[in-house]
Amino acid sequence: MTRSKIDNIRIDEIADKVLLIHQIKASGPFTRCDGLLILPKEDRNSKTVVLDLNVEPKCIKSINEVYGPVSEYVCSHGHMDHITHVYMWERFGANIYGFIPEANYLLNLYNLFEGFGFNEAMDFSIIEKFAELNKYHECNNVIPIKPGSKLKFENFKIETIPFQGHSLANVGFYLPVERILHIGCLGFDLSKLNSEGFGPWYGFKQCSILQYLKDIDFAESLYLRKADFLTSSHGYVVKNPDRSPFDYMRKKIESNKLKIDQALKSLNPPLKSEEETVKKLLKMDIFFPKRNMSGFMLEIYTFWEYWIIKNHIQLI
Ligand SMILES: [Zn+2]
Repeated sequence: MTRSKIDNIRIDEIADKVLLIHQIKASGPFTRCDGLLILPKEDRNSKTVVLDLNVEPKCIKSINEVYGPVSEYVCSHGHMDHITHVYMWERFGANIYGFIPEANYLLNLYNLFEGFGFNEAMDFSIIEKFAELNKYHECNNVIPIKPGSKLKFENFKIETIPFQGHSLANVGFYLPVERILHIGCLGFDLSKLNSEGFGPWYGFKQCSILQYLKDIDFAESLYLRKADFLTSSHGYVVKNPDRSPFDYMRKKIESNKLKIDQALKSLNPPLKSEEETVKKLLKMDIFFPKRNMSGFMLEIYTFWEYWIIKNHIQLI
Protein backbone atom coordinates (compact mmCIF):
# COMPACT_ATOMS: atom_id res chain seq x y z
CA MET A 1 0.00 0.00 0.00
CA THR A 2 1.21 3.48 -0.85
CA ARG A 3 0.93 6.21 1.74
CA SER A 4 -2.04 8.33 0.78
CA LYS A 5 -1.68 12.08 0.83
CA ILE A 6 -5.44 12.45 0.59
CA ASP A 7 -7.96 12.36 3.41
CA ASN A 8 -10.45 9.43 3.30
CA ILE A 9 -8.63 7.78 0.39
CA ARG A 10 -6.65 4.53 0.34
CA ILE A 11 -4.17 3.96 -2.44
CA ASP A 12 -2.61 0.73 -3.73
CA GLU A 13 0.09 1.04 -6.37
CA ILE A 14 -0.60 -1.94 -8.65
CA ALA A 15 1.98 -1.24 -11.35
CA ASP A 16 4.35 1.62 -12.13
CA LYS A 17 2.18 4.76 -11.85
CA VAL A 18 -1.06 2.77 -11.86
CA LEU A 19 -3.01 3.28 -8.62
CA LEU A 20 -6.14 1.58 -7.30
CA ILE A 21 -8.08 4.17 -5.34
CA HIS A 22 -10.59 3.42 -2.60
CA GLN A 23 -12.77 5.93 -0.76
CA ILE A 24 -12.82 4.78 2.86
CA LYS A 25 -15.95 6.35 4.36
CA ALA A 26 -19.04 7.08 2.30
CA SER A 27 -22.04 9.34 2.83
CA GLY A 28 -24.58 7.09 1.06
CA PRO A 29 -25.15 3.41 0.25
CA PHE A 30 -24.37 3.53 -3.50
CA THR A 31 -22.12 6.52 -3.71
CA ARG A 32 -18.69 5.11 -4.51
CA CYS A 33 -16.68 2.46 -6.33
CA ASP A 34 -12.94 1.81 -6.51
CA GLY A 35 -11.16 2.56 -9.76
CA LEU A 36 -7.77 2.99 -11.40
CA LEU A 37 -5.75 6.13 -11.74
CA ILE A 38 -3.22 5.98 -14.59
CA LEU A 39 -0.66 8.65 -13.78
CA PRO A 40 1.49 10.31 -16.43
CA LYS A 41 4.45 8.20 -17.49
CA GLU A 42 7.05 8.89 -20.12
CA ASP A 43 6.23 7.30 -23.48
CA ARG A 44 2.78 6.28 -22.18
CA ASN A 45 0.49 9.18 -21.21
CA SER A 46 1.25 12.82 -20.46
CA LYS A 47 -2.01 13.43 -18.54
CA THR A 48 -3.80 11.31 -15.95
CA VAL A 49 -6.44 8.83 -17.15
CA VAL A 50 -9.10 7.54 -14.73
CA LEU A 51 -10.95 4.25 -15.05
CA ASP A 52 -14.28 3.98 -13.25
CA LEU A 53 -13.41 5.79 -10.03
CA ASN A 54 -16.74 7.12 -8.80
CA VAL A 55 -15.87 8.78 -5.51
CA GLU A 56 -17.49 11.70 -3.75
CA PRO A 57 -16.86 15.27 -4.97
CA LYS A 58 -14.52 16.18 -2.11
CA CYS A 59 -12.28 13.23 -2.98
CA ILE A 60 -12.38 14.04 -6.69
CA LYS A 61 -11.29 17.58 -5.92
CA SER A 62 -8.36 16.39 -3.82
CA ILE A 63 -7.33 13.72 -6.35
CA ASN A 64 -7.30 16.39 -9.05
CA GLU A 65 -5.14 18.66 -6.93
CA VAL A 66 -2.59 15.94 -6.24
CA TYR A 67 -2.68 13.87 -9.44
CA GLY A 68 -4.46 16.01 -12.07
CA PRO A 69 -5.12 17.23 -14.60
CA VAL A 70 -7.26 14.27 -15.67
CA SER A 71 -7.77 14.16 -19.41
CA GLU A 72 -9.98 11.08 -19.81
CA TYR A 73 -12.51 9.32 -17.58
CA VAL A 74 -14.07 5.96 -18.51
CA CYS A 75 -17.26 4.79 -16.74
CA SER A 76 -17.86 1.01 -16.83
CA HIS A 77 -21.69 0.88 -16.71
CA GLY A 78 -24.84 2.67 -15.62
CA HIS A 79 -25.43 1.45 -12.05
CA MET A 80 -25.84 4.17 -9.45
CA ASP A 81 -22.56 3.46 -7.61
CA HIS A 82 -20.65 4.06 -10.87
CA ILE A 83 -22.34 7.18 -12.20
CA THR A 84 -23.29 9.53 -9.35
CA HIS A 85 -20.27 11.88 -9.28
CA VAL A 86 -18.85 11.47 -12.78
CA TYR A 87 -20.08 15.03 -13.53
CA MET A 88 -17.39 16.24 -11.13
CA TRP A 89 -14.58 14.68 -13.20
CA GLU A 90 -16.12 16.42 -16.21
CA ARG A 91 -16.18 19.72 -14.32
CA PHE A 92 -12.45 19.32 -13.69
CA GLY A 93 -11.87 19.02 -17.42
CA ALA A 94 -11.98 15.29 -18.23
CA ASN A 95 -13.61 13.84 -21.35
CA ILE A 96 -16.21 11.33 -20.19
CA TYR A 97 -16.71 7.95 -21.89
CA GLY A 98 -19.58 5.56 -21.20
CA PHE A 99 -20.72 2.27 -22.68
CA ILE A 100 -23.75 1.68 -24.88
CA PRO A 101 -26.64 1.31 -24.01
CA GLU A 102 -26.10 2.87 -20.55
CA ALA A 103 -23.81 5.80 -21.44
CA ASN A 104 -26.78 8.15 -21.56
CA TYR A 105 -27.75 7.32 -17.95
CA LEU A 106 -24.94 9.75 -17.09
CA LEU A 107 -26.75 12.47 -19.04
CA ASN A 108 -30.27 12.05 -17.78
CA LEU A 109 -31.71 10.13 -14.85
CA TYR A 110 -34.87 9.36 -16.79
CA ASN A 111 -32.79 7.25 -19.20
CA LEU A 112 -31.72 5.11 -16.26
CA PHE A 113 -35.32 4.87 -15.01
CA GLU A 114 -36.48 3.50 -18.37
CA GLY A 115 -33.34 1.62 -19.31
CA PHE A 116 -33.31 -0.59 -16.22
CA GLY A 117 -37.08 -1.07 -16.39
CA PHE A 118 -37.84 0.74 -13.13
CA ASN A 119 -40.66 2.46 -15.06
CA GLU A 120 -42.54 -0.85 -15.22
CA ALA A 121 -42.73 -1.05 -11.43
CA MET A 122 -42.62 2.41 -9.84
CA ASP A 123 -42.89 6.17 -10.29
CA PHE A 124 -39.97 8.27 -11.44
CA SER A 125 -40.09 10.12 -8.11
CA ILE A 126 -38.75 6.95 -6.39
CA ILE A 127 -35.64 6.98 -8.56
CA GLU A 128 -35.29 10.72 -8.09
CA LYS A 129 -35.18 10.20 -4.33
CA PHE A 130 -32.70 7.35 -4.71
CA ALA A 131 -30.49 9.54 -6.92
CA GLU A 132 -30.70 12.40 -4.46
CA LEU A 133 -29.71 10.15 -1.58
CA ASN A 134 -26.57 9.17 -3.49
CA LYS A 135 -25.97 12.73 -4.75
CA TYR A 136 -26.28 11.94 -8.45
CA HIS A 137 -25.82 14.81 -10.89
CA GLU A 138 -25.94 14.74 -14.65
CA CYS A 139 -22.97 15.16 -16.99
CA ASN A 140 -23.07 17.52 -19.97
CA ASN A 141 -21.34 15.33 -22.54
CA VAL A 142 -20.57 11.64 -22.71
CA ILE A 143 -18.77 9.88 -25.54
CA PRO A 144 -20.61 6.58 -26.15
CA ILE A 145 -18.52 3.51 -26.89
CA LYS A 146 -19.29 -0.12 -27.61
CA PRO A 147 -18.50 -2.71 -24.94
CA GLY A 148 -15.52 -4.70 -26.20
CA SER A 149 -13.82 -1.71 -27.90
CA LYS A 150 -10.11 -1.15 -27.55
CA LEU A 151 -9.18 2.31 -26.27
CA LYS A 152 -5.91 4.14 -26.67
CA PHE A 153 -5.09 7.41 -24.92
CA GLU A 154 -1.73 8.55 -26.31
CA ASN A 155 0.23 5.30 -25.81
CA PHE A 156 -1.86 3.92 -22.97
CA LYS A 157 -3.86 0.92 -24.15
CA ILE A 158 -7.04 -0.54 -22.65
CA GLU A 159 -9.06 -3.53 -23.80
CA THR A 160 -12.63 -3.36 -22.60
CA ILE A 161 -14.12 -6.76 -21.78
CA PRO A 162 -17.92 -7.09 -21.93
CA PHE A 163 -19.35 -8.61 -18.74
CA GLN A 164 -22.98 -8.41 -19.75
CA GLY A 165 -24.42 -10.84 -17.22
CA HIS A 166 -24.31 -7.91 -14.78
CA SER A 167 -25.63 -5.22 -17.13
CA LEU A 168 -25.79 -4.73 -20.89
CA ALA A 169 -23.13 -2.02 -20.92
CA ASN A 170 -20.90 -3.43 -18.21
CA VAL A 171 -17.21 -3.93 -18.99
CA GLY A 172 -14.02 -4.86 -17.25
CA PHE A 173 -10.70 -3.26 -18.21
CA TYR A 174 -7.66 -5.23 -19.27
CA LEU A 175 -4.37 -3.34 -19.41
CA PRO A 176 -2.12 -5.55 -21.58
CA VAL A 177 1.15 -3.71 -20.94
CA GLU A 178 0.63 -3.34 -17.18
CA ARG A 179 -0.85 -6.88 -16.96
CA ILE A 180 -3.80 -5.79 -14.82
CA LEU A 181 -7.36 -7.07 -15.13
CA HIS A 182 -9.90 -4.78 -13.49
CA ILE A 183 -13.12 -6.81 -13.30
CA GLY A 184 -15.12 -3.83 -12.03
CA CYS A 185 -18.55 -4.81 -10.77
CA LEU A 186 -18.46 -8.50 -11.74
CA GLY A 187 -19.09 -9.55 -8.14
CA PHE A 188 -15.88 -9.83 -6.15
CA ASP A 189 -16.95 -7.54 -3.32
CA LEU A 190 -14.81 -8.61 -0.37
CA SER A 191 -13.09 -5.66 1.26
CA LYS A 192 -10.66 -7.97 3.07
CA LEU A 193 -9.77 -11.62 3.42
CA ASN A 194 -12.40 -13.69 5.28
CA SER A 195 -15.07 -11.01 5.04
CA GLU A 196 -18.54 -11.46 3.57
CA GLY A 197 -20.27 -9.77 0.68
CA PHE A 198 -23.30 -10.10 -1.56
CA GLY A 199 -21.38 -11.42 -4.57
CA PRO A 200 -22.59 -11.20 -8.18
CA TRP A 201 -25.51 -8.85 -8.66
CA TYR A 202 -28.29 -9.63 -11.12
CA GLY A 203 -31.29 -7.70 -9.80
CA PHE A 204 -32.51 -6.37 -13.15
CA LYS A 205 -34.51 -7.75 -16.05
CA GLN A 206 -31.52 -7.37 -18.39
CA CYS A 207 -29.21 -9.49 -16.22
CA SER A 208 -28.52 -13.11 -17.06
CA ILE A 209 -27.16 -15.77 -14.72
CA LEU A 210 -26.04 -17.98 -17.62
CA GLN A 211 -24.14 -15.08 -19.15
CA TYR A 212 -22.76 -14.28 -15.70
CA LEU A 213 -21.25 -17.75 -15.36
CA LYS A 214 -19.66 -17.39 -18.82
CA ASP A 215 -18.30 -13.95 -17.87
CA ILE A 216 -16.72 -15.38 -14.71
CA ASP A 217 -15.09 -18.20 -16.69
CA PHE A 218 -13.78 -15.79 -19.31
CA ALA A 219 -12.44 -13.34 -16.73
CA GLU A 220 -10.70 -16.16 -14.88
CA SER A 221 -8.98 -17.52 -17.95
CA LEU A 222 -7.87 -14.06 -19.08
CA TYR A 223 -6.50 -13.29 -15.62
CA LEU A 224 -4.67 -16.60 -15.25
CA ARG A 225 -3.13 -16.38 -18.73
CA LYS A 226 -2.35 -12.73 -19.11
CA ALA A 227 -2.56 -10.71 -15.89
CA ASP A 228 -0.43 -10.37 -12.78
CA PHE A 229 -3.07 -8.54 -10.73
CA LEU A 230 -6.82 -8.55 -10.39
CA THR A 231 -8.59 -5.43 -9.18
CA SER A 232 -12.29 -4.66 -8.84
CA SER A 233 -14.82 -2.00 -7.87
CA HIS A 234 -15.50 -3.23 -4.34
CA GLY A 235 -12.76 -5.72 -3.46
CA TYR A 236 -9.17 -6.11 -2.36
CA VAL A 237 -6.25 -6.59 -4.77
CA VAL A 238 -5.53 -10.19 -5.78
CA LYS A 239 -2.31 -11.54 -7.26
CA ASN A 240 -2.05 -14.28 -9.88
CA PRO A 241 -2.37 -17.33 -9.38
CA ASP A 242 -4.83 -16.72 -6.53
CA ARG A 243 -8.15 -17.66 -8.12
CA SER A 244 -10.30 -17.27 -5.00
CA PRO A 245 -12.38 -14.36 -6.41
CA PHE A 246 -13.74 -16.66 -9.10
CA ASP A 247 -14.52 -19.49 -6.69
CA TYR A 248 -16.23 -16.93 -4.43
CA MET A 249 -18.42 -15.55 -7.22
CA ARG A 250 -19.49 -19.00 -8.44
CA LYS A 251 -20.19 -20.13 -4.88
CA LYS A 252 -22.37 -17.07 -4.23
CA ILE A 253 -24.52 -17.75 -7.31
CA GLU A 254 -24.83 -21.39 -6.29
CA SER A 255 -25.83 -20.48 -2.75
CA ASN A 256 -28.47 -18.03 -4.06
CA LYS A 257 -29.82 -20.87 -6.17
CA LEU A 258 -29.98 -23.16 -3.14
CA LYS A 259 -31.86 -20.53 -1.13
CA ILE A 260 -34.46 -20.29 -3.88
CA ASP A 261 -34.70 -24.07 -4.27
CA GLN A 262 -35.37 -24.37 -0.54
CA ALA A 263 -37.98 -21.63 -0.61
CA LEU A 264 -39.71 -23.29 -3.56
CA LYS A 265 -39.81 -26.60 -1.68
CA SER A 266 -41.51 -24.88 1.23
CA LEU A 267 -44.42 -23.81 -0.99
CA ASN A 268 -47.12 -26.35 -0.42
CA PRO A 269 -48.86 -26.94 -2.77
CA PRO A 270 -46.59 -25.47 -5.48
CA LEU A 271 -48.04 -22.40 -7.16
CA LYS A 272 -49.08 -22.53 -10.80
CA SER A 273 -48.03 -19.20 -12.22
CA GLU A 274 -44.44 -17.96 -12.20
CA GLU A 275 -45.58 -14.49 -11.22
CA GLU A 276 -47.46 -15.83 -8.21
CA THR A 277 -44.41 -17.86 -7.16
CA VAL A 278 -42.04 -14.89 -7.39
CA LYS A 279 -44.44 -12.73 -5.35
CA LYS A 280 -44.69 -15.41 -2.67
CA LEU A 281 -40.90 -15.80 -2.48
CA LEU A 282 -40.49 -12.03 -2.29
CA LYS A 283 -42.47 -12.05 0.96
CA MET A 284 -39.92 -14.42 2.52
CA ASP A 285 -37.12 -11.79 2.46
CA ILE A 286 -34.68 -14.36 1.07
CA PHE A 287 -32.04 -11.81 0.05
CA PHE A 288 -32.85 -8.47 1.67
CA PRO A 289 -34.42 -7.67 5.06
CA LYS A 290 -37.26 -5.77 3.43
CA ARG A 291 -39.44 -6.03 6.51
CA ASN A 292 -37.12 -3.47 8.10
CA MET A 293 -37.35 -1.09 5.16
CA SER A 294 -39.84 1.55 4.14
CA GLY A 295 -40.47 4.22 1.51
CA PHE A 296 -38.46 4.41 -1.69
CA MET A 297 -35.72 2.06 -0.45
CA LEU A 298 -38.32 -0.67 0.15
CA GLU A 299 -39.64 -0.21 -3.40
CA ILE A 300 -36.17 -0.38 -4.92
CA TYR A 301 -35.02 -3.41 -2.93
CA THR A 302 -38.28 -5.19 -3.70
CA PHE A 303 -37.69 -4.52 -7.39
CA TRP A 304 -34.12 -5.86 -7.23
CA GLU A 305 -35.07 -8.96 -5.28
CA TYR A 306 -37.95 -9.61 -7.67
CA TRP A 307 -35.46 -9.83 -10.54
CA ILE A 308 -32.88 -11.84 -8.61
CA ILE A 309 -35.58 -14.43 -7.88
CA LYS A 310 -37.02 -14.27 -11.38
CA ASN A 311 -33.61 -14.65 -13.03
CA HIS A 312 -33.12 -17.86 -11.05
CA ILE A 313 -36.63 -19.20 -11.57
CA GLN A 314 -36.38 -18.66 -15.31
CA LEU A 315 -33.53 -21.19 -15.37
CA ILE A 316 -35.59 -23.97 -13.82
ZN1 LIG B 1 -22.93 -2.65 -11.13
